Amino acid sequence: MRKFLGISFDYERKMHTQWIFNAIVTAIAVPYAMYIGAWSMLGWAFVWAYLVMCIGANAGFHRWASHHSWKPSEWVKWLMMAMFCHGSPGSPLVTVLFHRYHHKHSDTEHDPHSPHVIGWFRGATGRFAKSSGYTSSGRDLFKEPSIVFFHRHYWKYQAVIYLGALLIGGPLFFGLFVCFCGFWNATIAGHILDGVLSHYKFLGYRWFETKDQSNNNPIFAWLSGGEAWHNNHHAKPGKYYFGHKWWEFDPAGFLIWAILKRV
Ligand SMILES: [Zn+2]
Ligand SMILES: [Zn+2]
Repeated sequence: MRKFLGISFDYERKMHTQWIFNAIVTAIAVPYAMYIGAWSMLGWAFVWAYLVMCIGANAGFHRWASHHSWKPSEWVKWLMMAMFCHGSPGSPLVTVLFHRYHHKHSDTEHDPHSPHVIGWFRGATGRFAKSSGYTSSGRDLFKEPSIVFFHRHYWKYQAVIYLGALLIGGPLFFGLFVCFCGFWNATIAGHILDGVLSHYKFLGYRWFETKDQSNNNPIFAWLSGGEAWHNNHHAKPGKYYFGHKWWEFDPAGFLIWAILKRV
């Protein structure tokens, strides 16, 4: 069993438990909030989930940690990793390794989460293929204190967030601001929109003839905070702004340019 900093790499079972738990609580909390008319709480919970996605996952995990396409200040790195891990992704260290491996072997038999290799259902539920080669591309991550910290303490951090939200905010707050946030980030955006739907050519259009099946789709792109300008990204992974044409607006790229790069 492969280990990183003393933590087993094969921790998928725990992650699946967290994702299933989030999905079940979300399936109860969202209809209940609608039933009792808690519309403003529901709206703010979605805004929060979207912010966590744009800042933590898109700007932090993806564009900085995975691709080094921009340079944040140290405190922004900590903020981004804290928000990223609030979205139930698993260890940032391991997630980056998965992602780099995905780029290196996109839609080939070595891609850990291509729907063309493992099927759409396994991709959508995060049941990725295992490979012994993941460690090869992540030595730089061990030098980043924020990534190492949230890798080491991922589960403790989850306990603090889950228990803190439940005790301070109550059950509905917990369901909407923690479980829905995690469900949106890890399952909807991370697995379904970016991992599966962005890798079928026929579901979008392509500006670049990349070796993979990545597409651009405006609806997926808006829902995923810009991540699903996916063909553009696979063609130019070193660019932090994923829009290629002027009208391909990238919310996370804009946030990096307007705020995160400057603070
Ligand atoms: Zn990428
Ligand atoms: Zn991809």
